[in-house]
Amino acid sequence: MPLLEAAGISKVFGKLTALDGAALSVGEREFHGLIGPNGSGKSTLMKCLAGALVPTRGKVTFINTDVTSLTPPERARAGMSLKFQITAVLPLTLYDNILLALQARSSLLDLAFSRSRGRLHEEVMTLLLQFRLADRAFDAAATLSHGQQQWLEIAMALACRPRLLLLDEPTGGMSLEERRVTGELLQPIKQHCSLVIVEHDLDFIRDICDRLTVLDQGKVLASGTVAEIQANRSVQEIYLRRA
Ligand code: ADP
Ligand code: MG
Repeated sequence: MPLLEAAGISKVFGKLTALDGAALSVGEREFHGLIGPNGSGKSTLMKCLAGALVPTRGKVTFINTDVTSLTPPERARAGMSLKFQITAVLPLTLYDNILLALQARSSLLDLAFSRSRGRLHEEVMTLLLQFRLADRAFDAAATLSHGQQQWLEIAMALACRPRLLLLDEPTGGMSLEERRVTGELLQPIKQHCSLVIVEHDLDFIRDICDRLTVLDQGKVLASGTVAEIQANRSVQEIYLRRA
């Protein structure tokens, strides 16, 4: 049984069918890329996975549980974490942003009894170190570069130790060097977490992903290993059509 299975997902907005029976299957510790032309339904599918949108039809199963009608916080408690295209960093220090992310995901009992202040401090610093932000811990998040803000948000999304991380265009607006670093920063999380990532940069996605799913007009055009997708004639056609 895969970690995440979305089947027959349709989403209708008024007269527009954004998703039309899309499907996605992600295994344990798999990095899965979701690609496709603009408007093909990638963000809508990510929102259906995370619970920000309820699909018109279809079913999302996560760790053997039907989560289709669960709210985003309920899915987060089940081990799903996401970072959206839009920045969600608060006007606080990096340290406090991570601390809040850790606390938001712990129960009060957990905080009161099992997690001492020292332990929380250690967790905050470990995450900041992992994302090469430790030397900026007590700076205001607003002083970070665009790329660093994205890394801070990914660190925040990982604070709850999710089994699945959902990233919608995390490298949007990043420099080439920041993209390269983002790839490096994501690799280690594979030891404990699966990833679904939406990206326009095909080189980036090919480098970090194990499998890809290609959406076109709300439907899955192809799904498979990176090599299979690269060799797929219909996929080549939609990307040529766009160029
Ligand atoms: P992608 O992320 O692949 O660029 P989206 O999932 O954002 O595509 O959008 C797919 C289609 O659904 C687009 O035509 C978009 O305009 C439409 N859409 C997305 N969200 C909404 C919404 N909340 N209301 C109406 N239409 C929407
Ligand atoms: Mg999108």
